[in-house]
Amino acid sequence: MKELENILDFLPQELEEKIKPMFRVKQIYQWIYQKYAEDFSSMSNLPKDLRLELAQNFHFNPVQCIKHQQSKDGSIKYLFELRDGLRIESVLLPMKEEKLDKEGKRISHARFTICVSSQVGCKSGCSFCLTAKGGLKRNLKAGEIVGQILWIKKHNNIPYERRVNVVYMGMGEPLDNLKNVSKTIKILSQNDGLAISPRRQTLSTSGLARQIKELGKMNLGVLLAISLHAVNDELRTELMPINKAYNIAAIMDAVKSFPIDQRKRVMFEYLLINGINDKLEHAKELVKLLNGIKAKVNLILFNPHEGSPYKRPNLENAIKFQHLLSNKGVTCTIRESKGLDISAACGQLKERMEER
Ligand code: SAH
Ligand code: SF4
Repeated sequence: MKELENILDFLPQELEEKIKPMFRVKQIYQWIYQKYAEDFSSMSNLPKDLRLELAQNFHFNPVQCIKHQQSKDGSIKYLFELRDGLRIESVLLPMKEEKLDKEGKRISHARFTICVSSQVGCKSGCSFCLTAKGGLKRNLKAGEIVGQILWIKKHNNIPYERRVNVVYMGMGEPLDNLKNVSKTIKILSQNDGLAISPRRQTLSTSGLARQIKELGKMNLGVLLAISLHAVNDELRTELMPINKAYNIAAIMDAVKSFPIDQRKRVMFEYLLINGINDKLEHAKELVKLLNGIKAKVNLILFNPHEGSPYKRPNLENAIKFQHLLSNKGVTCTIRESKGLDISAACGQLKERMEER
């Protein structure tokens, strides 16, 4: 039997070459991404023979949910199986609850962020990260990344017009899969599709300077987050071997050339690990490093996992670290430890399932 193609892999102009004319492509996009159709046969405004032809050539179910876990804070972590049997994770993070006025009328909707994987595994080998353990299995195709978001929106009954934010902070290094991730950014932003503007998408990278420049040249409007985690090359190389290829200076150079919206900033993620990089002198160095860059810092508390030598820092130290940065004028937040009880840091649910 002929292998079906994943229709989520295609931009409208690519589909137009296969399915003419464009208005049919738009209708198909709307059925899939906005009306959450289950199959091609239910796409009632398409001619019957086109529906049949589509079903013979395409599918739009690249991921199947194997397990999900809800945290006390409301975040839900999904373990997905791809069509070749490999597994990845995604997380739905409720950011704000729905607000009601005194009469019970809604004044604002709930807000969500969806965290997606970009690869099965990762080859960067960061010493604190569980995804690094098994190495890289393969890149995800654009439609497999899009599929994670579509599945989560659809199965949580999040209406299509309710905008969600997307962060490429699940498993994998998105810039090691730049071709497919940049395509994902474009597919997600289609008006007839999920309509998630690139400004609502944040790509997090361990600092592949060459690819940061390449992404910058594409001028997609996507937001950038750098996983910095250390302020000197010696320590950073210890934590993140990729630092041998692209050191801190190279990353800063690439960041400076990255196009960002006037009102936006580059996010620097800084994973606080107890006794390793959480001293005030590190915070001072960080201030110096970010001098002249429109940056905001997101402090993350290390999420411990079995077999890791590292420990979670205490919150008091993290707050001191934060205060030092804020006092020097660097915008800085401590990322709420969403999903700590369900191990929501990247790679942790998959790992647990595989131990069994
Ligand atoms: N590869 C990309 C994106 C995926 S990792 C990157 O490294 O940026 C997303 C974030 O989770 C990174 O900032 C990473 O450093 C962080 N992370 C990895 N392991 C973690 C852990 N055990 N606890 C907390 N954050 C972790
Ligand atoms: Fe890969 Fe990011 Fe994990 Fe490092 S932190 S191993 S780059 S997924």
